[in-house]
Amino acid sequence: MTDDDTTRILAELAQIRRADPPTHGGRVLSYVYDHGRPELDRIAAEAAAMFLPVNGLDPTTFSSVARLERDLVRFTRSVLHGDEDVVGSVTSGGTESCLLAVKSAREGWLAQQGRRAGDPGGPRPEVVMPTTAHPAFRKAAHYLGLVPVEVPVDPATGMVDADALLSAVTAATALVVVSAPNYPFGTIDPIARVADGAARLGVAVHVDACIGGWLLPWWPEGAAGEPWDFAVDGVTSISTDLHKYGYAPKGASVVLYRGRQRHRGQYFATTGWPGYPVVNPTMLGSRSATAMAAAWAVTQALGTQGYADLVAQTAAATGAVRRAIDGLSGLSVVGDPAAALLAVAADPDRAPAHQVDPFAWVDAVRRRGFLLQAQPAFAQGDGSVLPRTAHLTFTPVTESVTRELVAALRDGADEVRGRAAPGPQPDLVERVITGGLPEEMAPVLSTLEAMDGDAAPAALTSLLASVIDPDVGHDTDGAADA
Ligand SMILES: *Cc1c(COP(=O)(O)O)cnc(C)c1O
Repeated sequence: MTDDDTTRILAELAQIRRADPPTHGGRVLSYVYDHGRPELDRIAAEAAAMFLPVNGLDPTTFSSVARLERDLVRFTRSVLHGDEDVVGSVTSGGTESCLLAVKSAREGWLAQQGRRAGDPGGPRPEVVMPTTAHPAFRKAAHYLGLVPVEVPVDPATGMVDADALLSAVTAATALVVVSAPNYPFGTIDPIARVADGAARLGVAVHVDACIGGWLLPWWPEGAAGEPWDFAVDGVTSISTDLHKYGYAPKGASVVLYRGRQRHRGQYFATTGWPGYPVVNPTMLGSRSATAMAAAWAVTQALGTQGYADLVAQTAAATGAVRRAIDGLSGLSVVGDPAAALLAVAADPDRAPAHQVDPFAWVDAVRRRGFLLQAQPAFAQGDGSVLPRTAHLTFTPVTESVTRELVAALRDGADEVRGRAAPGPQPDLVERVITGGLPEEMAPVLSTLEAMDGDAAPAALTSLLASVIDPDVGHDTDGAADA
């Protein structure tokens, strides 16, 4: 391979990358967590490059990995008020952290029943959660053979009632899940009350702080209002993502447990094959240490003061945009979001002619250069319906674009106010699969929203599978593969 080859290949990669929306600069209000500090990107890149050849599968061989992991666990537990009884692992992301917390709780529950770890026979354990809990817990139930038990939240506030959640707990409950905050509405569940009640019943409680774990500890005036982490006795495990507000590149999260026995429950170990003795702390076998090294470097570079400073910036930007949204007629923020994420619904107190449809608004704001995330309406088990919303996640760089963002939100709302929401189109998913995503996403989302709970997953699966199918997929700009 010549230098020319290197240049050409990397140029092509850069060209492919140009199809993406900008990951820096505050234009994408989900998925990316921009600190706005180029020096952090540099240190993360160099740290990751240093660990590219390492295999995190075996920390007894690559002892550097064990060192990084111990440091990250120690730092994270200190932030979350854990004492020496709190231990855990670095995982590849929030979903893996949640899956492992559920596996650990399943093994704990099976042991209580006098059954063996991983035992598939007998009654299935349950995981109790508000409807707002992250889908990672439904996925965990699906993968690990538990029954998900979903408790409705108040459609006006996005809040679950602690007593309602606790009354869903039975002898089959292996775990109760609460969030700090939940993703859809950004509200914090009544964690102290739930943990207290669950502890009395002898049931484990997981706090999903995947998105809030690196925000809430420094949020001005204590966003949570009351303790929500290991300071609460009944909390038995917490997940928190380094690759969100920890500002590490994607591929790093931490799951922590109160008690070493609980942590052991997430492991898989076997000597039942002719090869080397296997012990996997997480879901993966061979695992990259690049994200862990980058996360280590970023947390070292920031320290608690660095996080406090970035949170202060994020909080200021959130306050400014929130006030602007509160001033937009026809839209209203759902409930009382605790930190840097919120959902905006059509104002229920307005007549349709004065309402702004969130899907239409997302498209209108996108035409003005900012990407919001559309969340379809959701019918809960009790028949109540959570509204369709637009979701916004703010980061430190939001501060640098507040004026442009507020103008886009306002002008977008003015453009579509009173306009009827686009309805579902029966053959739309098929057309998207063959023709690619349209400019206007509202009809696609309305179509998905109108599908029943069985049809939608199949449609989504076909759609996403087609995107990466070498014989079907095409770039959004219509360019053919080389
Ligand atoms: C992001 C998120 C997760 C899942 O994390 P991934 O890193 O996307 O796998 C779980 N819970 C909450 C509240 C989240 O915001």
